[in-house]
Amino acid sequence: MKKQFAIIGLGRFGSSISKELYHMGHEVFAIDIDEKKVNAVKDYATSTYVGNGTDEALLTNIGIRNFDHVIVAIGDDIQASILTTLHVKDFDVPNVWVKAQNDYHHKVLEKIGADRIFHPEKEMGSRIAAYLTSDTVLDYIDLSADYSIIEMLATKKIGGKTLISLDPRKNYSCTIIAIKKQGKVDVTPDPSDPIKVGDILILIGDKRDLRRFREGEL
Ligand code: ATP
Ligand code: ATP
Ligand code: CA
Repeated sequence: MKKQFAIIGLGRFGSSISKELYHMGHEVFAIDIDEKKVNAVKDYATSTYVGNGTDEALLTNIGIRNFDHVIVAIGDDIQASILTTLHVKDFDVPNVWVKAQNDYHHKVLEKIGADRIFHPEKEMGSRIAAYLTSDTVLDYIDLSADYSIIEMLATKKIGGKTLISLDPRKNYSCTIIAIKKQGKVDVTPDPSDPIKVGDILILIGDKRDLRRFREGEL
């Protein structure tokens, strides 16, 4: 279903979100205070506007209250990011997602009602560190401080074993929710089918249990 997004702040983060959403077929309204930044996304936005996100009158004029989703991706100017977020939340936009610059910025955004807060540099840094130090972790989603969903590569050690013989729920308190084989995701893997080297296991569990699984089986 086509959705309407407004993106305020078109640095690397905001402009790449604009590009992706636009290519997915959504309506994207892109706003930046800097005309050059706005011109750079002209081909990846439904419409664009040069203006200051902190300007309440501007937000009224562009009808910000009608958007399902507003992304505030103003970087270094923390004050502008906070003020813009505050105004957008005042217009009762249901989903306001904001890029935070540091932990104080994060706290303030939380207090004023930002619905999701991102730290792309920090998050990408953790992710790259995880890829660099593990041959088997392909990707992960953190669900909370303790729980994750993780994609792991089946190595020689696990090849030939089955879900029955592994019994991950009993032995590791985690659950294999799907197995990817040659790019196809099987969400109801047959527990008696042998796992092949190169299959990708998608597991959910406590991070410590997932690590135990990885160290024990991969
Ligand atoms: P990125 O990491 O995404 O490249 P950055 O951390 O380098 O961003 P900035 O360049 O400071 O952050 O900000 C991102 C964008 O937000 C810039 O294009 C800037 O022009 C725009 N911006 C800054 N202040 C405002 C504002 N008040 N209203 C709208 N856009 C703004
Ligand atoms: P990030 O997006 O990761 O927050 P940034 O886009 O704001 O970073 P900078 O702050 O310009 O980029 O650079 C990142 C770091 O690289 C800074 O800590 C800076 O001191 C350091 N740095 C810049 N130039 C050099 C250099 N020539 N040698 C070593 N370190 C450097
Ligand atoms: Ca940056």
